[in-house]
Amino acid sequence: MQNTKRILTATMAILVCASTIVGSNEGHAKTTREELLEIRQQKSKVMESITKGNKTLEKYSDQMELSQKEIDKFQLKVDEVEVQKKDAEEKEVLYQKKFNQRLREFYENGETGHMSLLLQADNFNEFLIRFEMVRLVAQRDYALLEEKKKATAEVQKKIDELNVLVAKQQKEVEKSKAAFDKIMEIVKKDKSKLKELQGMEDANETELISINKELISSGKLKFAYTGPLQKPLGYPITSGFKFRWGKPHEGIDFGTQGKINIPYAAAADGVVVESRVSSGYGWLITIYHGEYGGLPFYTRYAHSWPNQVKVKIGQDVSKGEIISLIGNNGRSTGPHLHFEVRIGHGAKPDAKDPMKFFGG
Ligand SMILES: [Zn+2]
Repeated sequence: MQNTKRILTATMAILVCASTIVGSNEGHAKTTREELLEIRQQKSKVMESITKGNKTLEKYSDQMELSQKEIDKFQLKVDEVEVQKKDAEEKEVLYQKKFNQRLREFYENGETGHMSLLLQADNFNEFLIRFEMVRLVAQRDYALLEEKKKATAEVQKKIDELNVLVAKQQKEVEKSKAAFDKIMEIVKKDKSKLKELQGMEDANETELISINKELISSGKLKFAYTGPLQKPLGYPITSGFKFRWGKPHEGIDFGTQGKINIPYAAAADGVVVESRVSSGYGWLITIYHGEYGGLPFYTRYAHSWPNQVKVKIGQDVSKGEIISLIGNNGRSTGPHLHFEVRIGHGAKPDAKDPMKFFGG
C-alpha cells in the first residue's frame, strides 16, 4: 500500500516537474529505477515463497493421500474381519445352544433317570457309565463353546486393532490437512501480494519508460557505463569486424546454424533507445549503456522480425536480459544476429570492434 502511495506521489511529482524542470527527470528516473529494483527483489522473494509453499502443499497433499490409502486398506480389512466376526458369533450361539441342550439333558436325566437308575442296583454300574458319558460329552461341548467364544474375542481384538490403526491414520490426515490449510493461507496471501507487486512493477516500468523517453528526446539520458559486455548469445561468431565486400562490416555476426527464434540478450545494463525498422538491419534495437570516456556507449542488434522483439523504447534492460529472438530480416543471408558497438554522438556514432569490450 505504502509503495503504491509512493508511486502515485512520484507520478504526480513527475507530472509537475515534467512541465517545469526537465533536468530533474534524471533524478526521478533514478528513484523510479531504484523502486523498480526493490519491487522486483520483493517480487522474486514472494515468488520464491510461493514456489516453496506449493512444494509444501504438494508434500501434505501426498501425505493425506497416503494416509487415506492406508485408511481404505484398513477399512477393507475391517470389512473382511467383520464377516469373520459374524461367522464366529453365529457359531458361538450355535454351540451355546448345543451346550445348553446338553446341560438340560444332563440334569433331566439327573432328575429322573438318575433316580430310577439308582433304584435299580443292578444297573448302578450302567448308571455310572451313562453318567460319566453324559458328563464327558457336556465337558467336550463346553470346551467347544469356550473355543468359539475365544475365536469371537480374537476376531473382535483384530477389529479393535484395525480401528486403532484407522484412528491413527485419521489423526495423521487431520494433522496434514491442518498444515495444508495453514500453508494454503500463506500461499494465498503471497499470491495477492504478488499481484499487488506486479501492478506496482507495471506502473513503475511504464513510468520509467516515459521518463527515459523524455530524457532520450531531450538528450539528457546519462549515466555511467558499467562494462564489460557479455556476449548476447552462446553461438559462434561467423563474421568479424572487418572490411568485407568492399566496405566495412561494422559489427560481428553470431550465426545460429540456420535456426531462428534463438533468444539473445542485452550485452550490458542500459536503456533501449531505438527499436525500429531499418532497411539493411531489418529491425534495429539500440541500447544505451552509459557514458564511456565522456561519450555515449551503444550496442545494436539487427535482423529480428518485429514480432520477435521483447523490449520497448525507454525500457531499462539488465545485462543478460532477453531482448529479442534470432531472425533473418533485412540484408541477411541466413538466421544470425548482427551485433554492433557504437561510441559517440549523432545519428551514426563510430563503430568499434565489439570483441574489445567483452569480458573474460
Ligand atoms: Zn553483420
